[in-house]
Amino acid sequence: MTKKTFKKSFTQQEPIPEAAIARAVEVLRGGRLHRYNTLEGETSEAALLEAEFAAYLGVPYALACASGGYALQVALRAAGLASGDKVLANAFTLSPVPGAIHNAGGRPILVETDEDYTIDIGDLSQKAASSRAKYLLLSHMRGHIADMEAVLEVCQAHELVLIEDCAHTLGARWNGRMSGTFGKVACFSSQTYKHLNSGEGGFLASADPELMARAVVHSGSYMLYGRHLAAPDEEVFLKVRLETANMSGRMDNLRAAILREQLRHLDDNCRRWNLLYGALEAELRQVPGLRMPVRPQHEDYVGSSLQFSLPGFGETEIRSFIELCAARGVEVKWFGAAEPHGFTSRYDSWHFIEDPAELPKTRALLATLCDLRIPLTFDEADCRLIGEIIGECTVETGEADEIPAAAG
Ligand SMILES: *Cc1c(COP(=O)(O)O)cnc(C)c1O
Repeated sequence: MTKKTFKKSFTQQEPIPEAAIARAVEVLRGGRLHRYNTLEGETSEAALLEAEFAAYLGVPYALACASGGYALQVALRAAGLASGDKVLANAFTLSPVPGAIHNAGGRPILVETDEDYTIDIGDLSQKAASSRAKYLLLSHMRGHIADMEAVLEVCQAHELVLIEDCAHTLGARWNGRMSGTFGKVACFSSQTYKHLNSGEGGFLASADPELMARAVVHSGSYMLYGRHLAAPDEEVFLKVRLETANMSGRMDNLRAAILREQLRHLDDNCRRWNLLYGALEAELRQVPGLRMPVRPQHEDYVGSSLQFSLPGFGETEIRSFIELCAARGVEVKWFGAAEPHGFTSRYDSWHFIEDPAELPKTRALLATLCDLRIPLTFDEADCRLIGEIIGECTVETGEADEIPAAAG
């Protein structure tokens, strides 16, 4: 019997909606691509997008900018980070997170990961006390949301300013409340592999007027902040405008135009992602030796990617498992590799971090942690097939592993 293979690409997103393309073409024809290049009485696409984004989250202020990583950096500065300040952050995150802390002049203090891939609350609490950090940059990494009540409790106890990295939780909720509304400021990405796609792009959202005024000026408003819709009043800007450095990283009208239309479809897309996630998860839950994380009842996640662990496998087995999957068209990524690979890198490859901590729990977790993208170009049958292939490759790897042991 020939083995089934999967034919679609794990990196193929859906096309940009036709209405978004039409609007983008209008912007191109108008030639006014810069967000402050507006006619008398005209409101830019970027400003409209910010107003719609803020309304979606239910917060007063939003800023669109160049990328998610840029948003993080600006959020830290706008929250008052001074050079040398310590910033607690999950060790299980993407490299732009420690990069943003470093770029803003902060010192990352990495925190352990629990078995369900979220920040380890015990370690967080301990490091908050021992490091005297003032900030927590919390990544809802790959869409996994920590117990937010517990996180807020630690923040309160240690007077930590919470900054949420919602690169994978746009549209998600914890206990009914939108992800990105728990901290002082939240950051989002509209890079191609996130929940909105403008190639590159990012957002900040906040209810804090002074923080947002600083973020707008940082982003390069050339004192034209009066043309924003989801920004605080002029008097707040007057307080910060001259002491806030311009770090040019604006969103342009072309990207804003294609994002506005996508935002209207976001909730529908989140539902579609979750159907796909559910189909794949149902298959994977049946695979012996494969562990799916426990996702709390309060977590209303967006299943745009899926993670699982193979706790019985060593590095050799993981590598052969990934090869078997790849040979059958299933692209599994691994977080445990010593060398950074594609979008994934392990915390110990961020050598710019001073006095890196030992993180045995995270290291052990990442050693068997696998990752799959779920683009919306897949359907539920695709997900069932992917699950079946992963199941077969897991069993096959396990059996190959047992032969030498039995012979020995
Ligand atoms: C993608 C991502 C970012 C940064 O987004 P970019 O737009 O690529 O800069 C930050 N944090 C996490 C967890 C991400 O996945």
